[in-house]
Amino acid sequence: MTPAGDNAFLDAARALLGAVHVLTGADAAPYCRDWRGRYTGRALAVLRPATTDEVAATVRLCREHRVPMVPQGGNTGLVLGSVPDGSGTAVVLSLQRLNRVRAVDPLNNTMTVEAGCLLQHVQEAAAGAQRLFPLSLASEGSCTIGGNLATNAGGTAVLRYGNTRDLCFGLEVVTADGEIWSSLRGLRKDNTGYDLRDLYIGAEGTLGVITAAVLKLHPQPAAQMTALAALDTVEDALALLQLAHARCGPALTGFELMSALCIDLVRAHFPQLAPAMAARQYVLLELSSSESAAHAAGLLETTLDEAIAGGICGDALVAASLAQAQALWQLREHIPLAQAADGKNIKHDISLPLSRVAHFIAVTETALHDALPGCRLVCFGHLGDGNLHFNVAAPAGTDSEAFLVHQPLANRIVHDSVHAHGGSISAEHGIGALKRDDLLLYKSATEIALMRTLKRALDPDGLMNPGKVL
Ligand SMILES: Cc1cc2nc3c(=O)[nH]c(=O)nc-3n(C[C@H](O)[C@H](O)[C@H](O)COP(=O)(O)OP(=O)(O)OC[C@H]3O[C@@H](n4cnc5c(N)ncnc54)[C@H](O)[C@@H]3O)c2cc1C
Repeated sequence: MTPAGDNAFLDAARALLGAVHVLTGADAAPYCRDWRGRYTGRALAVLRPATTDEVAATVRLCREHRVPMVPQGGNTGLVLGSVPDGSGTAVVLSLQRLNRVRAVDPLNNTMTVEAGCLLQHVQEAAAGAQRLFPLSLASEGSCTIGGNLATNAGGTAVLRYGNTRDLCFGLEVVTADGEIWSSLRGLRKDNTGYDLRDLYIGAEGTLGVITAAVLKLHPQPAAQMTALAALDTVEDALALLQLAHARCGPALTGFELMSALCIDLVRAHFPQLAPAMAARQYVLLELSSSESAAHAAGLLETTLDEAIAGGICGDALVAASLAQAQALWQLREHIPLAQAADGKNIKHDISLPLSRVAHFIAVTETALHDALPGCRLVCFGHLGDGNLHFNVAAPAGTDSEAFLVHQPLANRIVHDSVHAHGGSISAEHGIGALKRDDLLLYKSATEIALMRTLKRALDPDGLMNPGKVL
């Protein structure tokens, strides 16, 4: 657009939303920086509509002026999906003002919320109705439910409750041409043609703007028990997972793997959180019982006793209080913070069939050490879902910033191995702009062609979050 065209567009946006909700210059800058602070783009403006009708009118205005749009929730995404490129031609479409809980229906076990609601507020509103909304991420105080849906976020309870997709019964969406489509009916069954909801979930804002959703609620557990188990190998961790599934069934709600190096990093930077036990691998288990604390404790004790007797597990620490359970989760959640305190590293968010996880780790670690002698593998994650955060750090005592020059090589080694083991190069964070080129390497030509066909059909002008995913 010409400067005159830009001004005409901005005037029209101000008339639509009010001048205070059209941010430019320094006011727009925070919306253009990614969460990790590694990238800063530029926006023509940040537009902050407050209702679905305003979102629809904003999308129509952008379309009329051919202005690209980058939907944004809490801007906690880790793959550069929520920030504009450096051209300064796109607007950030912030959903933060659409933040109402529209309805809670305890009989249907659903709640209808707007896209800009913080995940933590959604959890609190569910708890207020004596229900559980089980999606849980370390970013829950900042991310929005719209962002969670747009990225199909995972988190710590996928093992029992599924991804965000599994927690959604219906959506309200503003399409790329500014129409409003709604399936906010709270239906558990609806086989009436193509599932449009599933197209918009996980699309990372490239097909339309999610403005509201009907979420699935669960009963609140009567009690939860948490334990930390000390093990020798990843194979042992997988054997413990099988055992825990067999003994605890749906009561098993969390199963997180942490290697010794992860715990060493936490010990170095947050010593108050480090456990007293020493092991080569650690597993954090969480059980939720709909009956009682005694029931959860019984299941946990049976599982751990059998694991210790069978030589799968060396030692275990069972949290005796809520505070101790929280401290164990803090240990897990501080791994990324301890890593950041240790220096820069090369991150991978991958998933594999459980049956191939151990072989993958063994051969990929060897390949990384051969190519990058002395590099350190910081491996942790939601093992119950086959999801690993498989991060590569610089050799101890060396310049971590300089080590980032090896990122393309490390990515190639890890992602080639993931592909060879039948896994995915993005388990829960999405593709955004960061992994877009890698997607072309690992998806089949047929799959990419089908995705492009969908993109062209639903966003023919290519204005919805251009340059992301495809
Ligand atoms: C400390 C930390 C821990 C994290 N832990 C996890 C984890 O365990 N599991 C996990 O899956 N992720 C995790 N994340 C990543 C991130 O929090 C999630 O991807 C989250 O779902 C993003 O929500 P958001 O509101 O911040 O979205 P944003 O970052 O604003 O946007 C993410 C993507 O969704 C699109 N988008 C946002 N809102 C909408 C909308 N209403 N309609 C259409 N498109 C939209 C954006 O264009 C962008 O492509 C973590 C991030 C941090 C910083």
